Amino acid sequence: MEKKVFARCLDCAHQDTIDFNQPACSACGSLWREAIYDYPYIRASLLSSLPSRPFNLWRYSELLPTDPPPFSFQMGEGGTPLIHAASLGSMLGMKHIYIKDERQNPTSSFKDRQAAVAIHAFKQSKVNELVCASTGNVAISYSAYAARAGIRLWAFLTSLVPPEKMREVASYGTRVIKVTGTYDQTKQLAAQFALERHIALDLGSKSIACIEAMKTLAFEICEQLALSSLPSFSTMPSLSTPWRAPDWYFQSVSGGMGPLGVIKGFRELFAMSLIQAIPKMGIVQVAGCAPMVHAWHDKKANAIPVTSPQTMIATLATGDPGRTYTELLSQMNGASGGSFCSVTDEEAYRAMHLLAKMEGISVEPAAAVAFAGLFHEVRAGTVKPDDLVVVNCTGHTLPIENHILDTATEQQVEAGVSFSDFGYEEGLLAALNNLNTIRYPRIAIVDDAPNVRRLISRILKSQGNYVLFEAVDGNSAIDLVSREKPDLVILDLMMPDVDGFSVIDQIHAQRETRDIPIIVMTAKDLTIQEKIRLQGQIQSLMRKGNFVSEKLLSEVKALIK
Ligand SMILES: *Cc1c(COP(=O)(O)O)cnc(C)c1O
Ligand SMILES: [Zn+2]
Repeated sequence: MEKKVFARCLDCAHQDTIDFNQPACSACGSLWREAIYDYPYIRASLLSSLPSRPFNLWRYSELLPTDPPPFSFQMGEGGTPLIHAASLGSMLGMKHIYIKDERQNPTSSFKDRQAAVAIHAFKQSKVNELVCASTGNVAISYSAYAARAGIRLWAFLTSLVPPEKMREVASYGTRVIKVTGTYDQTKQLAAQFALERHIALDLGSKSIACIEAMKTLAFEICEQLALSSLPSFSTMPSLSTPWRAPDWYFQSVSGGMGPLGVIKGFRELFAMSLIQAIPKMGIVQVAGCAPMVHAWHDKKANAIPVTSPQTMIATLATGDPGRTYTELLSQMNGASGGSFCSVTDEEAYRAMHLLAKMEGISVEPAAAVAFAGLFHEVRAGTVKPDDLVVVNCTGHTLPIENHILDTATEQQVEAGVSFSDFGYEEGLLAALNNLNTIRYPRIAIVDDAPNVRRLISRILKSQGNYVLFEAVDGNSAIDLVSREKPDLVILDLMMPDVDGFSVIDQIHAQRETRDIPIIVMTAKDLTIQEKIRLQGQIQSLMRKGNFVSEKLLSEVKALIK
């Protein structure tokens, strides 16, 4: 079946077919678009198709903008459990609190949904280098999926992000740029960097892949609630609306991408008559950075940016939600509404302890914010005792940092590793220029076999900071080398038309390229004549098929000064 999905512009309503290389509306240039599908068509077959599919987010592929990725890319993203929080419920006088345990995603946060779909979409669009800005968890998720997809990633993180998370990001081979500034400044810097270097940029809330990925949370919740044996409710599943929506969806919110995607998911289920009503949204921010909460209380459609966030919870420190807030608010107003509230860092830490002790669920402070917010809204009477509430419980459990603990009996768990061990760059706010002077060795890989090029580039990417170029035949290799003047050429000898010998001759015929070292890879034994031809012309000869990665790497390192 041909996938029927369009990107509809939120500004001029123009519809484009989806092309992930074209993020803007072709009629007016707006970056704000949403995916629309043939809902009646999908509704007609979805329920009968689902039982045979694994419980992960790709089971809803009709409602996603890409086809599912190959199995070799997947890591079990989505399909997380929905857990009944009976103890917490009895403490609050509520029977129906459910925890959507997003910790059980591959890198322990709900950002894995976003990363899986977005990285898969980038990969399908032939992107092999990507920039993202993050308050921590996006960078971790993107790093994991980029590593799987063989995409080189640059992650711009604010210096507030805990060092444990920075180390985790770096451990995937991601280039970490630590920015001394706010998250909003970090985002701007990342965008500028991507623009100057012509590298693809992750667009967050403006990315169709990201929003669509987050939708799957809504789908799973409503499908899971229909299966669970709950006592009778106003919103009982029936033949005409077989799934069950909660009354409330709670989430801690930073930039707002999560709830924006999730409410779209609920709206789609409602449009397809799979649920009876769209849930109310419980949006919780930290008090030290709560632009959405302020705007909501002031009945404003635009949030005033918080320029200096006052919170230890870096994950939630988006000071300027921009249009994401406006879109979220308008969708909530067009549905069942909801509420916005804020909690202090201390309230979040208390909720964190409570959740661990009462439910056996340990979360990072950012995730605990959602629970603290729920406590607030129950006390305020906004959430009613009979309401069915689902809380998005996402996020790592970090090594417990001192400021989180109220007793001083624990020992320090800070590992003795400095940032420079990972090649971090610091203090770049005023100095994007510094970044542009970082120069990584440039290597051209020439081989007509795509799997050989892929293997070599994987090996190099896994172990060092290299800028890689690839050429698929002799002629394009000659062009490439004279244009880019790489620091090293890794060259296949046997190629149709112009072979490796001719490429070597051409490289040596030009003054600007004649000193570039060359590693020759060959699949067969060379004849005497061939050996003579190569004598003195190349720096290293390696046999394809049986070279080990360390040998290649040590040759590369030795030849690049
Ligand atoms: C990203 C994140 C949030 C906030 O996400 P939004 O982009 O605002 O939807 C909340 N908690 C955790 C743990 C997160 O990783
Ligand atoms: Zn438009």
